[in-house]
Amino acid sequence: GYQRVLEENRKLYNQVQDLKGNIRVYCRVRPLVPGHSNTLSSVDHIDERTITILSHSKNGKEAKKSFTFNKIFGPSVTQAEVFSDTQPLIRSVLDGYNVCIFAYGQTGSGKTHTMTGPKELTEEGLGVNYRALSDLFHLSKERKETISYEISVQMLEIYNEQVKDLLSSDEIRNSSQNGINVPDANLVRVSSPSDVINLMDLGHRNRSVCSTALNDRSSRSHSCLTVHVQGKDLTSGNILRGSMHLVDLAGSERVDKSEVTGDRLKEAQHINKSLSALGDVISSLASRSSHVPFRNSKLTQLLQDSLGGQAKTLMFVHIAPEYEAHGETLSTLKFAERVATVELGAAKVNKDSGEVKELKEQIASLKAALARKE
Ligand code: ADP
Ligand code: MG
Repeated sequence: GYQRVLEENRKLYNQVQDLKGNIRVYCRVRPLVPGHSNTLSSVDHIDERTITILSHSKNGKEAKKSFTFNKIFGPSVTQAEVFSDTQPLIRSVLDGYNVCIFAYGQTGSGKTHTMTGPKELTEEGLGVNYRALSDLFHLSKERKETISYEISVQMLEIYNEQVKDLLSSDEIRNSSQNGINVPDANLVRVSSPSDVINLMDLGHRNRSVCSTALNDRSSRSHSCLTVHVQGKDLTSGNILRGSMHLVDLAGSERVDKSEVTGDRLKEAQHINKSLSALGDVISSLASRSSHVPFRNSKLTQLLQDSLGGQAKTLMFVHIAPEYEAHGETLSTLKFAERVATVELGAAKVNKDSGEVKELKEQIASLKAALARKE
């Protein structure tokens, strides 16, 4: 009796926490580039959850602005440390959750560093993508007596609102009616970290075939590594499916329209449109609004199944600390603040979500039952 009530209480509490935390925002600050040690930084102060940015107003007066997120990673935080705060989310994929992880920020702010790692990849430099997959392999082996897992991956690129399969050389037509999950894209079964590394190399080569300046192209397209997990419970025969999208977004910098024309302008407009569509989708999911505008971009269409409902979303926002970048930094942080709003303004969630309210009422009545027992 008593123990059970306690247990129930704890379970309900965790569920409330879960509902609240479906959208998380982590902010990562890149170190100043070596060799420019006397470059001024726009970052005034960092603590566990708050980052304060310096800027100067028109009359030259110093101004400060603070932003609060679920976590701030300073410039000296390692890849392993970043991953350890991401791991629980990744593990939930094996329990049948859909997870989306985004890297957002201006070009050069460290998105690819977080997701993939530095160009000269070392063991400790490995990014979230590799670590996530090797963790999934590791855990699925640990559970192999009870659940049999199959893990497969897709790699896609979205450039100018066109989806390209990076695991083949074909352009993917917009064939499926609802536009989601690109059923035509190659889905490749993997069973070890080295399989994944080989596939990522292939994807990288396919990406560079169509562009002479790979770096340029990679900063103007979104790349998405999708991991599908299917687990079969060996006793009941039940199947559960989870998925994880690891998305390295196009650079978020605003392009001065008066300075660019032609292809460059078209790219900029596509990027702009899809990033704001993503922001709109996340913030309307977070506020549990009845209409979620998935259809406004290829990116949000592609992720539609994996963003709503029980899905868990993590956005890494990246900051380039150089003072010259502070305009972009402020707009990056404002974007991030918008997608994080609801979780931080928890009161609003409680009001808006019937589910949370119901769970809170159940907790209250369990507490009352507990008090009567004592
Ligand atoms: P983006 O993908 O946002 O354009 P990159 O990930 O390519 O940016 O980072 C730009 C440069 O800064 C790269 O040379 C990268 O290795 C380096 N860099 C980024 N983040 C870090 C970090 N946390 N620690 C060390 N170097 C970093
Ligand atoms: Mg990059």
